[in-house]
This record gives sequence, structure tokens and C-alpha cells, in this order.
Amino acid sequence: MTKLKRKTILLDFDGTLLRQVTYPPQTEALWGSVEISCKIPHGALAAVPIDRLGKTDYGVASELAASQGSWLDAGWWDLYAVLFENQCPLNLVEEVRPGVVPLLAWLSITGGVDLRLATGNHQPVAELKAHRSGLSPWLDLQHSGYGATDDRRDALRMALEDTGDVIYVCDTARDVAAAHVLGIEALALVTEEQTAEQLAEADHVAANVQGLRGVLAAWMEK
Ligand SMILES: [Mg+2]
Repeated sequence: MTKLKRKTILLDFDGTLLRQVTYPPQTEALWGSVEISCKIPHGALAAVPIDRLGKTDYGVASELAASQGSWLDAGWWDLYAVLFENQCPLNLVEEVRPGVVPLLAWLSITGGVDLRLATGNHQPVAELKAHRSGLSPWLDLQHSGYGATDDRRDALRMALEDTGDVIYVCDTARDVAAAHVLGIEALALVTEEQTAEQLAEADHVAANVQGLRGVLAAWMEK
């Protein structure tokens, strides 16, 4: 008899569950950690143009280091996590996108579905944000996927372990492309950063959180 696998909803974090596509205290810690790790003056990276939408923390940090002809040493990971913990407010509840908590509550009581993060955030950074935003009770953080490399697909692969049907709820064209490479259905949320046209490659596009709920309700019925 084959084991019946539950459906799994993978959730991008910044821009999807949280309002901001990039979170300023995290940006400060990320840039600061690269400056310290690469021994470059504070503020030296401020003018470096980086297109970071849909990239992992490590990918962005590597690009910043490379812009100065440098690279990240092994200590960068802990340094970044510690700097972020110092920058991060104790309460991030206001950062949660309106409608997200009712959505997660509804998905949880509907039952038969796992909710996991699939984010480019460094794991301790994502976990701290999940706890301080009040979202951690809804999420299986232990089986979530995080940005352990510069390739977003690795975060998705990490979150795919022991899953059945999967859908990825996300908010950038890079997220959608990563999902499709792995054969995962993508549901993209339009944000201030990317329009429905920019997200047109997604299997479904939602204009708002209510729209996510409609698509997910139909997906769970399949
Ligand atoms: Mg995002």
C-alpha cells in the first residue's frame, strides 16, 4: 500500500507573508556583515547596484563581496546572523502582510496540508523573523527550505523532502522560474515590486491575499 502524502504549500517569506520585499534591518545586517567579513570600510557598499529580488541572502552577499574584488569567509554566516539579531526589533507583527494570518489559520484548520517556508533567507534570520512576526506557530520551520547557497532552487529542494503535491506561493519572477525548473506549480502574488505582467510565467497570479486564498482553495480540492 502506498503511503498517502499530504499536500504541501511552500511559502516565500519576504514580500509574500511579510509586507516588504526586502526588510531594511536585514539589509543593514547583510551589508554590514559583508563589510566586516571583507574588511572594507563601513558604507563602502552603499552605492553598489544590486538587483536582489528573488535572490538568496548568500547570493546577494557574494555579489557585494565580488563587487569589491573580495569573497566571503566561513565566518560570514554567523556574523550575519548575529548582526541581524542585534538589528531586529522584538516585535515584527506589523510587518506581516494584512490577511496573511487569517489565510494561514484557514489553511491550518482546513487540514491535510503542510505549510513550509521556502526562502532565500539565511536559516537563523528566517527563524527569528518567523518567531518575532508571530507566524512560527503556523509554519513547519524544521522542514522548511532556506538560503544555504546562492541558488534559490536549493532552498526549494530543501523544503521538498517527503512531500506529495506541492505548490509554491511567491512574489517574484525569479521565484517562479526556480519553481518551474523543479516542476513545482507557482502561485505568484502581485506586490509593489512586480506587476502581474512581470509574473505572467506563474501558473496562477493573485492580485492580493484574498486571491491567494481562492487559488489555494481550488488547489486543495484537486
Ligand atoms: Mg519574496
